[in-house]
Amino acid sequence: MTKLNLIGGEWVAAQTEIENRSPANPDDLIGQFTRGDAETVNQAVAAAAAAFPAWANASPQLRADILDRAGNAILARSAEIGRILAREEGKTLAEATGETVRAGQLFKFFGGEAVRLAGDAIASIRDGVDVEVTREPLGVVGLITPWNFPIAIPAWKAAPALAFGNTVVMKPAEQTPASAHILAEILQEAGCPAGVFNLAMGPGSVIGNALVEHPQVAAISFTGSEGVGQRIAEGCARHRKKLQMEMGGKNPMVVMADANLDVAVGACLNGAFFSTGQRCTASSRLIVEEGIHDAFVERMETAMNKLVLGDPLETETQIGPVASESQLRGNLGYVDLAREEGAEVIGGAHLDRPGFFQAPALFVNATNDMRSSREEIFGPCASVIKASDFDHAVALANDTEFGLSSGICTTSLRHSREFKRRSEAGMVMVNLPTAGVDYHVPFGGRKGSSFGSREQGRYAVEFYTTVKTAYTFAG
Ligand code: NAD
Repeated sequence: MTKLNLIGGEWVAAQTEIENRSPANPDDLIGQFTRGDAETVNQAVAAAAAAFPAWANASPQLRADILDRAGNAILARSAEIGRILAREEGKTLAEATGETVRAGQLFKFFGGEAVRLAGDAIASIRDGVDVEVTREPLGVVGLITPWNFPIAIPAWKAAPALAFGNTVVMKPAEQTPASAHILAEILQEAGCPAGVFNLAMGPGSVIGNALVEHPQVAAISFTGSEGVGQRIAEGCARHRKKLQMEMGGKNPMVVMADANLDVAVGACLNGAFFSTGQRCTASSRLIVEEGIHDAFVERMETAMNKLVLGDPLETETQIGPVASESQLRGNLGYVDLAREEGAEVIGGAHLDRPGFFQAPALFVNATNDMRSSREEIFGPCASVIKASDFDHAVALANDTEFGLSSGICTTSLRHSREFKRRSEAGMVMVNLPTAGVDYHVPFGGRKGSSFGSREQGRYAVEFYTTVKTAYTFAG
């Protein structure tokens, strides 16, 4: 049966639909999903606008209870949801289940935040006057999400939006509608009033664009590619909408000669290749100090050869398929490019089996000015770039248009401390992969990677509320 959009508490069909098939196995049909159009957005925004006054004024306890119930339901169903997520996105069952658990934790965290929403009482400079600063919801928010974290990203946007009294129109990526659809079902079952959470599945250029252009949408939170983000930013500027964007990365992982090589190889292998490299925080530039370079490359190659690629539903699989044929073609194009640019390529071949499988690739002897070292690939490919010393490594790490995540492997307290201070990234890891973050702390970057205030943790309140300053004279 076709899965439908959720509008004003009703499941609504659009004119067309698409098939959702697994990237690991084209014969695995996950389901049929309705494909909305601009009218879907008009209806969803109207429903969200109608639901807003009551939701904004609802007791925070009501909102907290609904979010907590949704979180519990996601956690209780994490094995089942994780399996569907692994089938539609291609990440391994362990990664998909972990992502689902994180979505549940996010809902429970923001359930708590709903009742902790605080303001300020500040002394006035005038006698007899009190000043209060309170936070209020924005109204209808449009949430536009990518395919690579099909439940965690919808959760980390929807949970704070709802906690602080906004109503939502969610537009998930077309490649991965099943996880977002389950989230909509769960929120409905958890008691979300009609119109508070609406699901509008369909093409980005139609649904996403209509959300950006709609006059009743107060704010857009977007995660996706830089090119689409730029278009969204222009639309939001035209309509003076509040905007938050999380986009690409070309995240550096510095490996110092004083690093524990086991720790470094483990962190680089995970950061570069797990989730098939399809993480905005993936370690795609491995910046290695000369003294340890050759040993590092040798150990990486040995470890890469041992990685188990295969069906994401098999428990021994460590690397699943690339998420789509177009993504695979793009990755293979970058492998050719890296070779043409003069790098020595280890791995990276298209595997001769059904589905979109690619062996992890290292581009050795790469330089930081190569296109393959500067552009986000979003696949299992990492450049290895030599650094002469710590200062050179830091300069290389910061020499990028992006600034999402960075890392250093070192046993030196001085290198660790200096790197945390000098890195021009929003998140810095020491002896840990650049990817893999906690759910209760801020997430986001600088430069071309992010725009607007941070997502997640207590900082999420900045985006999903606006501040009111009230002055009272007792008379
Ligand atoms: P994408 O930009 O193609 O799509 C993202 C979303 O935008 C989808 O829902 C899509 O349908 C929608 N969209 C497409 N065209 C649109 C338009 N004209 N107007 C409005 N919406 C539109 O990105 P993707 O391929 O789904 O995801 C991969 C990208 O996401 C990578 O660049 C990756 O780095 C980035 N990403 C960033 C983070 C982060 O937090 N920084 C997290 C995950 C993914």
